[in-house]
Amino acid sequence: MHDHPTPEDEYQWPVCVTPRCGRQLWVAEASRWACRPCEDATARRLKELPALFAQLDTTAALMRGARRQGGSTTGSKTPPIPPRLEVLALVGPGGVAARLSAIEDAWRQTLGWTIAPWRGSPAQAVPHLVEFVTNNLLWACSSYEEVGQDIDDLRKLHAECSALASGEKRPGRVQIGACPTVVGDRWCGTQLTASTGSHRIHCGSCGARWETLGEWRELRAAQERVLAEAAGVAA
Ligand SMILES: [Zn+2]
Ligand SMILES: [Zn+2]
Repeated sequence: MHDHPTPEDEYQWPVCVTPRCGRQLWVAEASRWACRPCEDATARRLKELPALFAQLDTTAALMRGARRQGGSTTGSKTPPIPPRLEVLALVGPGGVAARLSAIEDAWRQTLGWTIAPWRGSPAQAVPHLVEFVTNNLLWACSSYEEVGQDIDDLRKLHAECSALASGEKRPGRVQIGACPTVVGDRWCGTQLTASTGSHRIHCGSCGARWETLGEWRELRAAQERVLAEAAGVAA
């Protein structure tokens, strides 16, 4: 009789399964795996992810082919170095889209649903993946025992995207190619540089400016036209 467990030994108050949360669940939450604050924080992060992704995706497109300032001068055949490999990794096929897909696949499997349909490129897929995870977040927090790991992964993913989108992680200037502005009967051709933390590009020779992401795209398109025409002349 004396070794009969006391109520304190027998019953541990349930706590949130999210790593580093461990908050005791309220009585009203007692059927859940993850607490409501963790659910709310995750919903907030999910809501911000598509815009963060779009921002990184455009920045990566602009920076593609850029060279580091003061980089190697040894050979003209050295391929251009993408200056922000972390950005390219996040917006590429193995990045944000793949990490969200892994969560969706695991949840679908647990729910006994069919596997997710193919949703195209990462840029096309991310909004749909975010929508799926958002729509099923309450279910996961309530009924999916491994949800703590996914909440933690989503927190890290959001933090990585935010840090890169704000440009805090990799300050510095990179060369982004020649100025494509037509001055008189020729191209300006001055080497342009951009700061990884700023949207402002300014040509010191002809005074041209590109400030918005839309203007960046126009700049890149104009540079490609100049390169194509120059290649045509050389051929
Ligand atoms: Zn929690
Ligand atoms: Zn110029």
